[in-house]
Amino acid sequence: MVSVEAAGFRQGAGAVLHLDRITQVFDKRGDPLVALSDVSLNVRRGEFISLVGPSGCGKSTMLKIIAGLLAPTSGSVYLGGSLITEPRAEIGFMFQTSTLFPWRSVTRNITLPLEIAGASRDWNERVADVIDLVQLNGFEHHYPRELSGGMQQRVALSRLLVSDPSLMLLDEPFGALDEFTREHLNTELARIVERTNKTTMFVTHNIPEAVFLSDRVAVMGSAPGRILEVMDVDLPRPRVPASRLRPEYAEIVYRIREILGLH
Ligand code: ADP
Ligand code: MG
Repeated sequence: MVSVEAAGFRQGAGAVLHLDRITQVFDKRGDPLVALSDVSLNVRRGEFISLVGPSGCGKSTMLKIIAGLLAPTSGSVYLGGSLITEPRAEIGFMFQTSTLFPWRSVTRNITLPLEIAGASRDWNERVADVIDLVQLNGFEHHYPRELSGGMQQRVALSRLLVSDPSLMLLDEPFGALDEFTREHLNTELARIVERTNKTTMFVTHNIPEAVFLSDRVAVMGSAPGRILEVMDVDLPRPRVPASRLRPEYAEIVYRIREILGLH
């Protein structure tokens, strides 16, 4: 195992995220649709925060705004004190379905962002470190079609980590996986974020997943999309499978379900 320092990851450097009264109104066949209403949120450096809420409450919209892919109707997003107006290399994005290139091997999928960025060619060590971190060892020369859905998402995660973003945005990255694979990857992701200390915003509608991974969970409601409550997850780290047996875990899951009106 390489140490975080050896792998040269920025320790959450530069990422203090500040959302200031974000409102997003879409046009829905002539009628206004308020996808986000007056959303404010501060994310601390190195923090892992989840957005949880029903389908359509504006989670993906929020990530797109933070990523600079969508300009909000009103309000501002600041990263490290500077206003986000367009996509930035320091912000990494990962989606539910992997966007791997089928004709590229695992390694060459992972090196793609480095190639695009025109990084100097001596990235072998860095790629090896990332492959080690997500435990893809032995699969370097495989092609995406030869991998399970869970392994493909590991490749997508490696591709995200290799460019060492200061902020990671993950939009339901494990949403298409079966329950067993999802739980396993949750454990792996917890280990990875604890080692790299990346500032991360994670979108899911799976409440246990959000609680297991996060330092805080922003619980969202719909019509209009908004933050109902931000919950602290006082669950010790490292998060390990047995964390799910702790009474605090069950209690926070229960309280979030309550906020969402599931009881
Ligand atoms: P979530 O990710 O929480 O499921 P989204 O952010 O995708 O929700 O969508 C929030 C709401 O905004 C939904 O009602 C969706 O239909 C609507 N919406 C999202 N993007 C657009 C768009 N580009 N144009 C119009 N409506 C949109
Ligand atoms: Mg979504």
